[in-house]
Order: sequence, then C-alpha cells, then structure tokens
Amino acid sequence: MKIICVGRNYVDHALELKNEIPDKPVIFLKPDTALLKDNRPFFLPPWSTEVHHEAEIVLKIAKNGKFIAEKFAHEYVSHFTLGIDFTERNLQSELKAKGLPWELAKSFDHSAVIGNWIPLSNNTDLKNLDFYLEKNNQKVQEGNTSLMLFPYDKLISFISNYFTLKTGDLIYTGTPKGVGPVNINDHLTGFIGNEEVLNFRVK
Ligand code: MG
Repeated sequence: MKIICVGRNYVDHALELKNEIPDKPVIFLKPDTALLKDNRPFFLPPWSTEVHHEAEIVLKIAKNGKFIAEKFAHEYVSHFTLGIDFTERNLQSELKAKGLPWELAKSFDHSAVIGNWIPLSNNTDLKNLDFYLEKNNQKVQEGNTSLMLFPYDKLISFISNYFTLKTGDLIYTGTPKGVGPVNINDHLTGFIGNEEVLNFRVK
C-alpha cells in the first residue's frame, strides 16, 4: 500500500505559504508507516519544533490501474474521508530553501492521519464536498473540493501515468488555507458536510 499526496492543490493555501501556483500537480509519497488511524492519538515527534495540520480529503483506491483516463477515474475510488497531512513546517522550509526532497518533514511516522471511511455512492459528488477541521472546537480550516486546482479525476489520471495505482492505495488531495501548528493536548475534529469523521488528540 502506498500513500500519494498532492501539494499546493488549493490556490489560497499555495499563496499563504508564498508558493507559486503549479501548472501540473505537485506529488510526493509517504510510506505505510506514516499511517495513523482509528482516532488514535498523534504523538509529536521528539525532534519536531513546529508540526502543522493540513486537513485534506483522502481517497481510497478501489482497484489496480495505470494510464487511467479522467472519464473513468471515479471507478477507481471506493471510499473517501478527511485526513491530516502532518508537516514539520520548519524542517520543510529548510529543505525547500536548499532544493532538497521534503520526506523528512512530510513522511515521518504517523504523519498521515485518516478518519472513518465513507463509501462512495451514486450520490457522492467528489467535486463538491464541503469539509472542515476544528482545533479545540474552533474551526481552523474549511474547504470545498470544487476549489481544487486539479480535481480528483485529473489527479488520478495524472498520478497513474507515473505510479500504478493498487487497491487500497490512498491519495491525499491537498489542503485549503488555515494550516497551523498543533501542540500537546490539542483536540482535532474533522468533518465532511456535517458528519464527524475524525476525532483525536495530540500528545
Ligand atoms: Mg498537504
């Protein structure tokens, strides 16, 4: 199983970090050891200085595929949820400044949180999902997938030109603005529409 992540997929977030608006998807990977599920607590890594939450819609891949056409992309999604792409922002800034890969800042243990899965149904419109994240009962991030620079079908098609997608792979589709630090004892809750899918603590 692999975890594929998309960076800078919402204009307002790309601009808050003073990044350029990309002309094709920005892609990076996390290993399976990054996964954190079942609302288990997230322990701040001892070496970290500023870990940011990035709330993102996560797609679960339904079946194997390569060179997937956009019009068939929906057939490759079985479930979706909200997840957190935890990012060590100081380390990422340091690596970015040197033109180095981001993995140490992005792909560490438990940096990929996933909420409870919602099965894709005929009424699901993956291009119009409202979602938000609360930290200690205050809304800190909210978005709608219609605001993605590259919607899910373009992402699946693009990614599958480079990586064979396999059943159970995950795609983190990018975060809207409002990313910020988490601290010990913070309580994070995530919602799609009004359904709570994520509820865990930082330790
Ligand atoms: Mg992200």
